[in-house]
Amino acid sequence: MSESVPYQQLLESLRQAFPQPVSDPVHDGYVVFSMLRALDQVDALKSQAPILGTPCEPDYAKARRERIDVEGRTLEAVIPELVSYLQGMFIWGHPRSQINVVPNPTLASVIGTLLPLLYNPNLCSDESARRFAEAEVRASAMTADLVGYDPSQAGGLFTFGGTGTLLYGVKVGLEKALPGAGQHGVREDAVIVASEQSHYSCLNVANWLGLGQQNVIRVGSNLDNSIRLADLEQALRGILSEGRKIAAIVATMGTTDAFGIDDLRAIDALRRSLAAEFSLPQLPHLHADAVIGWAWSVFNDYDFEENPLAFRGRTVRSLASAQHDIGHLRLADSVGIDFHKTGYAPYSSSLVLFRDYQDFSLIARSRETMPYLYQSGEHHPGMYTLETTRSGCGAMAALANLLLLGKTGYRVLLGHAVEMAEVLRERVESHPNLSVLNGENVGPVTLFRAYPDCVDTFNVKQRERSDRQYRTQLVAHNDYNRRIYQRVHAEALGGHGVTLSLTDCYRQNDFGDPIVALKSYVLSPFADESRMASVVKHVLAAREAVDAEDDVAARAK
Ligand SMILES: *Cc1c(COP(=O)(O)O)cnc(C)c1O
Repeated sequence: MSESVPYQQLLESLRQAFPQPVSDPVHDGYVVFSMLRALDQVDALKSQAPILGTPCEPDYAKARRERIDVEGRTLEAVIPELVSYLQGMFIWGHPRSQINVVPNPTLASVIGTLLPLLYNPNLCSDESARRFAEAEVRASAMTADLVGYDPSQAGGLFTFGGTGTLLYGVKVGLEKALPGAGQHGVREDAVIVASEQSHYSCLNVANWLGLGQQNVIRVGSNLDNSIRLADLEQALRGILSEGRKIAAIVATMGTTDAFGIDDLRAIDALRRSLAAEFSLPQLPHLHADAVIGWAWSVFNDYDFEENPLAFRGRTVRSLASAQHDIGHLRLADSVGIDFHKTGYAPYSSSLVLFRDYQDFSLIARSRETMPYLYQSGEHHPGMYTLETTRSGCGAMAALANLLLLGKTGYRVLLGHAVEMAEVLRERVESHPNLSVLNGENVGPVTLFRAYPDCVDTFNVKQRERSDRQYRTQLVAHNDYNRRIYQRVHAEALGGHGVTLSLTDCYRQNDFGDPIVALKSYVLSPFADESRMASVVKHVLAAREAVDAEDDVAARAK
């Protein structure tokens, strides 16, 4: 049918499908109303449950059978199609949602994301980004100051995730360790040194940079999941005495599962003394993977004694302890920061900061290799970024939250999350069949395990960690907790109970066996004490159901 319609007619209706370039209040009404329509349909999916709509599994087979139609549809017809994909989606901000380090974005950060979506700046250069380039510089400077860098010396850019921030840190470190590697290729081994608790993105980065995953040296960690300094020193000495190069030492400032924080000050002192001892031409690059922990910098100048926000005693102790370590971020040459984790911004909003912006020149390409770009303007991050096109969304979302929340807002949100975790820890600790694994933890995450009645939870953790005779029981307890998790999870997907998560390996025991843990990660500002109590209630109920199953099985034998 459309074959007989001159295209100009169709074009006219397609024009309505775009934001109007020239002021048109009637059309603006249509834009806003269309968004409202979508939000209204989403609202119909809300209930008391921590998910939208009814639980459903993705139908990949059906998805693969789909093809583009000849004729398009109206916006009104497309909206419900799009909204249908929210069916079964987790509501991260729900008070009973404690799944992982996933925040619910603030409204300001959503609007910060929306504006660049409408006007599509490209942060590669101020030619195409105009003042959005300035927003990136502003958000970078504010954050640099927050973590203790001198904003007039530091440089930052937003990239594709925490993994991207690490990639930039190690890439610069590699160029320092093997000058010319970017031009001539990596012709010599160079290693990344990090703790065994570091994020797997270290492996990813080593893989993608051509260093090879086997060149990630993972050293032991303490029970609080921080890097064991004696092991680190031994590893570094071994590497240097063999004459091998160090692309980067990665300090993990807040591990993903357990909020372990490395002693950055000691690591910095160690690299300095070893560099002198081995007469290295360059200090080994020190990257702080602070994608989780960075936000605690807002407590750098909080008066913990006065405690004007009136956090509970246990909370103050935890916040102060975390801040004590996070407070040394300025010693790192580069820092990775995820606003989309503990910064309450939507994906992806990740900032890599370098203490010295000149470090970017180590990875810059020459202008001649990029003939169609950078003909005007003065600010061209695209000359050293991995990405050619970079959206303004991450920078604008971060800026929105820095402005909206200020230090106090962040203190309140993080302090509340930690306070709720403390409430949970108290409740778990006081129950004879439950045990907290990361007891020394100072963050918003609680790892815990349930045990059958016959187990003495007083010494079980110690035995699981270091008693070889106890291996069979450890494996059985892992399984026991997996089954409890599956019940809690199934209940949650049905709209009841709480959404927790499970970690398959909170850490290994002395013999390399994984220790499974139930995990509660609180970030939601809507969490409250009664919800924390219900976490314990649901886990205990699931535990009883698992026990009952086992009784039936035992009797059947
Ligand atoms: C999440 C995480 C990363 C990876 O960040 P993405 O934003 O998911 O790419 C790196 N390091 C740590 C410690 C993390 O928790």
